[in-house]
Amino acid sequence: MSIAPTEHPVATLNATHRCDRCSNSRAYVLVLLRWSPGLPSSGELYFCVHHADQYAEALAPYVSMIIDERWQLTEGIRDDGHVH
Ligand SMILES: [Zn+2]
Repeated sequence: MSIAPTEHPVATLNATHRCDRCSNSRAYVLVLLRWSPGLPSSGELYFCVHHADQYAEALAPYVSMIIDERWQLTEGIRDDGHVH
């Protein structure tokens, strides 16, 4: 039995990152904000896929960069779906 090594893209987000809106969900999207008056000084927001989609439009004017790693979901499904 041989297992071919799978190459995963390097992930920034992992299981310790939780959505800022619903802390139960793992965050797959990191939004880096440009500093603007009234925004939290951290400038980093973590979102699950659901909330990333929900807030993307509202945050768009403040976004500096978005790290979207929802591909990890696809990888997970592929792993979980492996039938022995
Ligand atoms: Zn969420």
